[in-house]
Amino acid sequence: MDADVIVVGASPAGLAASRVASEQGLDVLLMDKQDVLGENTHPANTFFKGMFDRAGETVDSSYVLKNLRGANIVAPSGSYVEVESPAYLLDRPAFDRYYIQKTRDSGVDIATSVEAYNVLKNDEGVSVSTSQGTFDSKLVIISDGINSKLASLCGLSAMKHPDA
Ligand SMILES: Cc1cc2nc3c(=O)[nH]c(=O)nc-3n(C[C@H](O)[C@H](O)[C@H](O)COP(=O)(O)OP(=O)(O)OC[C@H]3O[C@@H](n4cnc5c(N)ncnc54)[C@H](O)[C@@H]3O)c2cc1C
Repeated sequence: MDADVIVVGASPAGLAASRVASEQGLDVLLMDKQDVLGENTHPANTFFKGMFDRAGETVDSSYVLKNLRGANIVAPSGSYVEVESPAYLLDRPAFDRYYIQKTRDSGVDIATSVEAYNVLKNDEGVSVSTSQGTFDSKLVIISDGINSKLASLCGLSAMKHPDA
């Protein structure tokens, strides 16, 4: 076994999942295909307070640029919904740096430049084939984004909407 848990994708979801698993005493390997984490910042920069509450996270002022009373979510067509709920405009590079460091501090082993190609079950757990060879663990958490290719390969449908 290379780890108890392998997490694919150092997204906000992957960073949180790997940190929580490590805090529970598991040996965690987090892999991402990017060469450097926190450099190619994702455009998502406005988060609702409810998202943090639901994830059990406390907002840290170090990455908050502005407190908002709500937000309009605008579709490419121009139609939008108004959401009146406390939200935050984030300094996304600072947000990423904060959670990458927190994840490292929790003891997670972070491997960059590792692209996962497939996940296969074996007698002991799972094998993850990657650009850097094959890694074995008891469990894999796939957090490679909403259009997850790995989830499809495993026969799962990537979640585009929680109610879908
Ligand atoms: C333009 C735009 C603006 C947005 N704005 C907002 C916003 O303001 N607020 C909001 O809440 N949401 C916003 N969203 C939606 C939000 O960005 C996504 O829901 C969120 O990023 C999904 O996060 P995630 O943790 O699932 O994965 P992602 O952030 O997509 O991260 C996936 C990670 O997995 C890695 N990866 C992918 N495939 C592999 C592989 N095979 N092997 C190894 N690593 C891999 C990638 O390098 C990446 O680090 C926006 C989306 C877009 C496109």
